[in-house]
Amino acid sequence: MKGSKKAYNRIVIKIGSSLFCSESDGLNRGLLKSLVLEVNKLVDSGKEVIIVSSGAIALGMLRLGMDCRPKGLPFLQAAAAVGQNILMENYLSLLEEQKKNCAQVLLTWEDFTGRTRYLNAKNTLLTLLKLGVVPVINENDTVSTDEIRFGDNDQLSARVASLVSADLLVILSDVDGLLDKDKRIVRVVPQINLQVKQLACPTTRKTCVGGMITKIDAAKIAVDSGVVCVIANGKNSGLICEAAGDPLSGGLWTVFLPKQGYLAERKRWIAFGSKPRGKIIIDDGARNALQNKKSLLSVGVVSVCGNFDCGDVIVISDKQGNEIARGKVAVSSKQLDKVKGGRFEKEIIHCNDLALM
Ligand code: GLU
Repeated sequence: MKGSKKAYNRIVIKIGSSLFCSESDGLNRGLLKSLVLEVNKLVDSGKEVIIVSSGAIALGMLRLGMDCRPKGLPFLQAAAAVGQNILMENYLSLLEEQKKNCAQVLLTWEDFTGRTRYLNAKNTLLTLLKLGVVPVINENDTVSTDEIRFGDNDQLSARVASLVSADLLVILSDVDGLLDKDKRIVRVVPQINLQVKQLACPTTRKTCVGGMITKIDAAKIAVDSGVVCVIANGKNSGLICEAAGDPLSGGLWTVFLPKQGYLAERKRWIAFGSKPRGKIIIDDGARNALQNKKSLLSVGVVSVCGNFDCGDVIVISDKQGNEIARGKVAVSSKQLDKVKGGRFEKEIIHCNDLALM
């Protein structure tokens, strides 16, 4: 790495199942091998790499002869339980061929929601990296119920990148990146705004969930956490090493630039780590106060939705429905309902517990 070019030392690579698994041909081990060889090169060059891989449900469906994605959650969980073994068997043997150890790490939303579990997950991942092990993460599909599922590994990979303060998140799928209206790759996205979101479109594949819009949502989590994010086609060989060398080189991918003044570690946990338990609507005065880094007081709260306890993370929206912030509340929804808008000012969320979105 020469000159002032930033070094991308800690890299999270998300590998989508659509890359190496199809309904007609099953597991494409050759493609998975070429991806693992690139990961190996990065590790040999001194980088720390975490893989977030889908494929448990797709591989389980193939093994169980299910020809369309089951609707019921128990069937998806059963397919995942069967497929996760097959997925890890492949990563294990491919990485062993390169004399690397790998570790299976299965995570759920709940592991991010509780601060202690969040920090435990972080410490384990960082220790694995120190030991030169390649963690292979997937959602723990067999125990995640509908409300607590990440649902797609784009989200999971971005939260992992935020958790370990990665330098770079590479989301690989079978498309070249974000395309503009003329189907040309958008090379650099300085800021994720409405126009960027409108370029994304949903997927229709049978074995995977996601699509470009979920990738953009994931990229948003990454850039708000200070992580550069690349969306690229994993079928282009050599691309992972190229993008990891210099994501801003203008290669065949879309790079999302990190936000200036991104959120500090604890605020990232509030913003992206935990699942909000409710929502409050605030007035314009309170919105301005929050944007000026002040605490949220009861007087500015217009309405309260959902049932939450003191200490839960909630969403804060303005009257137009725009999400302004997330924060850890100092009162329950029942208490807040009684004091909202009232004359007596009570601190509802301390400014240190607020993450502006
Ligand atoms: N955790 C799911 C699996 O391994 C994947 C979800 C996704 O496709 O992103 O099958």
